[in-house]
Amino acid sequence: MEAGRASLRGRSPRRRGAEVKAEGGCLCGAVRFAVEGRPLLSIICHCRTCRRASGAPSVAWLTFECDKFRLLAGRLREFPSSSGVIRSFCEVCGTPVTYSSEQFRDIVDVTTASLDDPSLYPPTLEAWLEHRLGWEATNSALAQHPRAGAEAPGDDA
Ligand SMILES: [Zn+2]
Ligand SMILES: [Zn+2]
Repeated sequence: MEAGRASLRGRSPRRRGAEVKAEGGCLCGAVRFAVEGRPLLSIICHCRTCRRASGAPSVAWLTFECDKFRLLAGRLREFPSSSGVIRSFCEVCGTPVTYSSEQFRDIVDVTTASLDDPSLYPPTLEAWLEHRLGWEATNSALAQHPRAGAEAPGDDA
C-alpha cells in the first residue's frame, strides 16, 4: 500500500481549493460521479471475474475511501458477483463503475477508465497475473502480483 501510494504519479487533476477532485461517468452519460483526493491505489487486475464482468482482458481500478466517492447523477445497479462482493454498473448502458467488498468496508474501487481523464492516476501494479490471458502483455515497469495484493480488488470467483 505505501509503495503503491508513494509511486502514484500523473498530471495533477484540477483543484478546488486544497481538495483534488476528478469526475467520471458511463458511456451513455446517465451516471456521473466525483472522486476526491488521490487514490490509495491504482492497479490493473487480470482476474477472471473482472474479465467476465467487463468483457475486457483486464480492468484498471482506483481505490478510494468510500466517503471520497460521490454519485452525482444517474443510478448504479448492483450485482453481487460473489459472497460479500458487489459490482455496480450504469443501469442504462452497463458501464462498470465500482467494486466493493465486505472485507474492506471503508474503501471502494472505481474503474479507472470511467474517469473523464483516465490518465490522471497511472497504475503502479498488476494483480492476479495467475489469471492473465496469454496474449495480453504485462508492463514490466509495474509491480507484479500473482494474486491480489492485500488491497487489490480480488478475484471473487
Ligand atoms: Zn450509462
Ligand atoms: Zn479483478
